[in-house]
Amino acid sequence: MSSFHEQLERYADLIVKVGVNVQGGQQVFVSGAVEMAPLVRLVAAKAYAAGASNVHVDWIDEALSRLKYEHAADEVFTVYPEWETAKRNAFVDAGASFISIVSPNPDLLKGIDPQRIGNFQKASGAGLANFRRAVQANKMSWTVVAAAMPDWAVKVFPGETPDEAVRKLWDAIFAAVRLNEGNPAEAWAAHNAALHKKVDWLNGKRFRKLHYRAPGTDLTVELPEKHLWVGASSVDSKGVSFMANMPTEEVFTAPLRGGVNGYVSSTKPLSYGGNLIDGFKLTFEEGRIVAAEAQAGLDILQRLLDTDEGARYLGEVALVPHRSPISQSNLLFYNTLFDENASNHLAIGSGYAFNIEGGKDMSREALAELGLNNSATHVDFMIGSAEMDIDGIAGNGETVPVFRKGNWAE
Ligand code: ZN
Ligand code: ZN
Repeated sequence: MSSFHEQLERYADLIVKVGVNVQGGQQVFVSGAVEMAPLVRLVAAKAYAAGASNVHVDWIDEALSRLKYEHAADEVFTVYPEWETAKRNAFVDAGASFISIVSPNPDLLKGIDPQRIGNFQKASGAGLANFRRAVQANKMSWTVVAAAMPDWAVKVFPGETPDEAVRKLWDAIFAAVRLNEGNPAEAWAAHNAALHKKVDWLNGKRFRKLHYRAPGTDLTVELPEKHLWVGASSVDSKGVSFMANMPTEEVFTAPLRGGVNGYVSSTKPLSYGGNLIDGFKLTFEEGRIVAAEAQAGLDILQRLLDTDEGARYLGEVALVPHRSPISQSNLLFYNTLFDENASNHLAIGSGYAFNIEGGKDMSREALAELGLNNSATHVDFMIGSAEMDIDGIAGNGETVPVFRKGNWAE
């Protein structure tokens, strides 16, 4: 058994080599919390060892963020500082890699004036628009990875002391990113190849529809004619392969906005805005959610569906085998980076432009014409189980088994 420090070093190596795949002479922009300093420093060391010309760290201090929300003047939240925008854009222009190390803390802004939070989200959205466009178009390599901190850990492991919860959460993260396998980089290469094989198979089949069957689920999802399945590694504008999320277990595409019919039941609780929605069932007619029921959190589910008209339609269909390591852990992480990789899922709300052939260069209107849903929201919810069967229905009516008993049919 290797020591915690050795594990952390292997993790840092994986983030640099497989996550963003740092190239010689490249700059690296890291964002992470001050409490993660041991990991952040290891990431910087590994990046320099891989030939990085410069590593810049944007430190996050959640306690200071909270103090600012409590005490700073109102106007601080309505304007995103120009120098922050300029700094971010300078790294985008330099073709830097971006590493974001997250440790979700759903309670961080509990009790803060929602107006201040909303104002800041709007201001930072505008200030970082260029950066976000560059990320969405994969202009440069980027990755989002997780670190265990006490606030998150005690949510995942309630009843444990914070120290014990953090230790358990690190173990869960390390297992989810395949760090316990002999050579993690090789394990990722094999995992990536396996996911791309599924992507290629699905794209070759050109299914018109998917038909889901499970207890509480009988759902038909039509796919746009120009749908594209994607998954695992992406390629940036310089041809460098990178892994935008670690862990990642899904292959996914966009549903046809008006082509979803039947009903589907959730198989894991959905954590939304700090609240849990559990045991819910959605009924669809021509793409639209026409009925919703839930054993818990129905009012929160209704609020989500009322975000805008697009929140009544689906934007993503993702396939994840029930055998995946995160599914086997049986943990609820209260975080999409992990929870969406535990199970087959759908997303309420906006679809991704890159799930349509040539979509990255199309307007939202052109994408809508091809059947891609648009909304201000995108929320994944889990529907997979060991009892789920999925058939693909081809253009000629041929039915092909895609999933049997929760796993790939072949
Ligand atoms: Zn997904
Ligand atoms: Zn999603």
